[in-house]
Amino acid sequence: MKLAFIGLGYVGLTTAVCMAYRGFDVVGVEVDDEKVEKISRGIAPVKEPKLEKLLKYALSRKKFTASTSYRDAVKADVFFITVGTPSKPDGGIDLSRVAEACKHIGETLATQEKVATVAVKSTVVPGTTRTLVKQKLEEASQKKVGMDLNLCVNPEFLREGAAVDDTFHPDRIVIGDDWGRGGKILTRLYKKFYGRKTPPTMITNTVNAEMIKYASNVFLAARISLINEVANICQRTPGADVEEVAKGIGMDRRIGPHFLRAGLGYGGSCFPKDVKALAAFAKSLGVEPCMLESVQKVNDNQPYKAIELAERLVGNLHGRKAAVLGLSFKPNTDDIREAVSLKIINKLLEHGCTVVAYDPAATENVRRLLGNKINYAESAEECIKNADFCIVATEWDEFRRLKPEVFKKHMKKPVVIDGRRVYDPAAIS
Ligand code: NAD
Repeated sequence: MKLAFIGLGYVGLTTAVCMAYRGFDVVGVEVDDEKVEKISRGIAPVKEPKLEKLLKYALSRKKFTASTSYRDAVKADVFFITVGTPSKPDGGIDLSRVAEACKHIGETLATQEKVATVAVKSTVVPGTTRTLVKQKLEEASQKKVGMDLNLCVNPEFLREGAAVDDTFHPDRIVIGDDWGRGGKILTRLYKKFYGRKTPPTMITNTVNAEMIKYASNVFLAARISLINEVANICQRTPGADVEEVAKGIGMDRRIGPHFLRAGLGYGGSCFPKDVKALAAFAKSLGVEPCMLESVQKVNDNQPYKAIELAERLVGNLHGRKAAVLGLSFKPNTDDIREAVSLKIINKLLEHGCTVVAYDPAATENVRRLLGNKINYAESAEECIKNADFCIVATEWDEFRRLKPEVFKKHMKKPVVIDGRRVYDPAAIS
């Protein structure tokens, strides 16, 4: 079976090379020619554990090629749409890239006799596949979905920082199909890919599959905001410690222990945009998204708790030297989309601080965005040197390994605001 991935970002490139690694012939189509050039030389344009190794392997076995031309994907049996679906200024979803991809896939398929399958992996609001995707594909290909073209939805659940492992070991596969054939083809494909270890697979209609993706993300985002609100209450309750409280909550089987880590809130390319998109979608249906708006509101304010703490600990922040450890939105990635660190840095600059930042992977991405508004360190030690206070914004393992003595030695005073709870307060004080 020949596969095409349209859009070689975090999702597209990872899934494409994992498929190629397991023996499928894969073509990746990407509009960004710099990305294609890098990928073709075996360089992963995004930082993701194991990705580059798999990419090099797939290229060397001639199982994977990257191209800017849809024509190079003409022989594919299955086209996965993996382009971005960012937020519009009003929070709604921008589907222009999906529409564009459908048009080009359709034009490519117009030249082909065979019945190909298109699978929407990008996160799209419920109803998008039945309407926009189907219409664009049919217009451009002059084919009819359900007759000479198969269409289905196959939402992606991988996590950045663990994208390769998640692709090889997902909790479940969800496939939405309204027409009856695309879903069967994808199920066969995944049987081949996973063999005896095929994860539980749910087949439903396209609208449910699209909704499952959003509902999963908003549930996880809600847990984060809820534990953060509990943490804010604990902070003002003498004797309360949210870590102990979370441990106690997590022992309840109805709740479970995951996603109960209080901190500076969620960032990244998915949770913020997906919560906003589902809220905008709800409003368009006349449903007031009370919970979704609260989840967002708690999360919007959470990063600034670090600034409030800094003020409490060192007084007026004007003219102070602030060290920010961690820039990526989570560890093991260089992705800074909606990263909490950026909100914190901007607020610190507003307060008149001098900011020095360090991240093991994401510094160059931040430098492109903020230029010389801040200083960049080559190591954690250099970052905290002579700082008045330090905010840990990402829980990289490298920071966990820093001993209390390092902060004591390098900082003016060891004022560390551990926004990701990487240190044991008992060991530090
Ligand atoms: P991304 O921005 O990293 O990558 C998208 C890629 O598509 C970019 O390289 C872009 O240049 C390319 N592209 C845009 N228009 C194109 C076109 N017409 N033809 C070919 N290529 C085109 O995005 P991502 O993070 O990989 O996310 C992709 C989709 O998957 C989104 O809908 C996202 O919500 C969803 N998703 C993301 C994650 C994640 O962790 N990043 C997880 C699950 C689902």
